[in-house]
Amino acid sequence: MSNEVTTKKYVSQFEMFGTVISLTLFKRDQAVVETVYDYLQDADRIFSANREDSLLMKINRQAGVQPVQVPRQLYDLIKRGVVASRKYRDSFNVLIGPLVKLWRIGFDGQRLPDPADIKARLQLIKPDDVLLNDEQQTVYLNRRGMELDLGAIAKGYFADQIMDLLQSNGLKAGIVNLGGNVQLFGRNPLTSDGRWHVGIRNPQQPTGQPLTTISTVAESVVTSGIDERYFIVDGYRYHHILSPLTGYPIDNDLASVSIVTPESTLAEILTTVCFFAGSRRGLELVDHMIDVEAVFVTRQNKILMSRGLER
Ligand code: ADP
Ligand code: MG
Repeated sequence: MSNEVTTKKYVSQFEMFGTVISLTLFKRDQAVVETVYDYLQDADRIFSANREDSLLMKINRQAGVQPVQVPRQLYDLIKRGVVASRKYRDSFNVLIGPLVKLWRIGFDGQRLPDPADIKARLQLIKPDDVLLNDEQQTVYLNRRGMELDLGAIAKGYFADQIMDLLQSNGLKAGIVNLGGNVQLFGRNPLTSDGRWHVGIRNPQQPTGQPLTTISTVAESVVTSGIDERYFIVDGYRYHHILSPLTGYPIDNDLASVSIVTPESTLAEILTTVCFFAGSRRGLELVDHMIDVEAVFVTRQNKILMSRGLER
């Protein structure tokens, strides 16, 4: 047969960050898989807002006390996050930590907070209250109680780093999937045109059949949805993406947003921004950006796609 596909896939999986990480390569390379695993272990010790001994938490503990000097990669990601938070003031905010810790959505002790506590913490999430010093590589949170949380962008950043790592180890193609954060690189050896087909999950049934599939050349496809972490009180669903304006979970027509763009870190920022924008304004926003496409899924399971996408 002329178009028989002989390439074999090698899939490695492990659990981390409360999700399943999977690497798909087209060559057996156990050493590189271990390098990726070690990279993620180290990354967790640096970037996590959920472990007291991380470098990120060191900055948080020194809020209102003193600046903290941090390694280049942490400094750069914080800066990226803070700059985006200043740009997208009513949606994306890496200073959201005090509210995330108050709600504890997806963790032990999740509960509906006292409105007065929410209001008080809104004073502690201002992106202008972070002082960044490029020369010293220091980060200073101006007020006691402030807290950085890179949860919305860290996995995207890791995906970008892992792709670089795999490529510099000579791998020509693959899929890095960090729990719904998909980074594709190279030509897909399993298709005749080299394109990749990525399923967009059904937010009502995340583990079931995908709602639709998109086709793309190597890019990242990042999804953020209200189905990931949430709890229900009186029939109302409180999920883990919090509005920096109100302190409550965002509540609009959307169930999930997927962004398709080369860089995973940017995709992460834009999923949050578009989530807040809602389907109509979100599509408008994306259609004005170069090299950015999006799939919006509404709470009624309606699918809206930006102009440049192919199914
Ligand atoms: P997931 O980890 O489920 O893929 P996201 O990428 O959507 O999730 O990021 C959600 C996480 O980002 C939350 O768990 C929280 O740590 C943080 N977060 C919550 N609200 C915001 C916000 N408005 N801006 C930036 N980060 C946020
Ligand atoms: Mg995100």
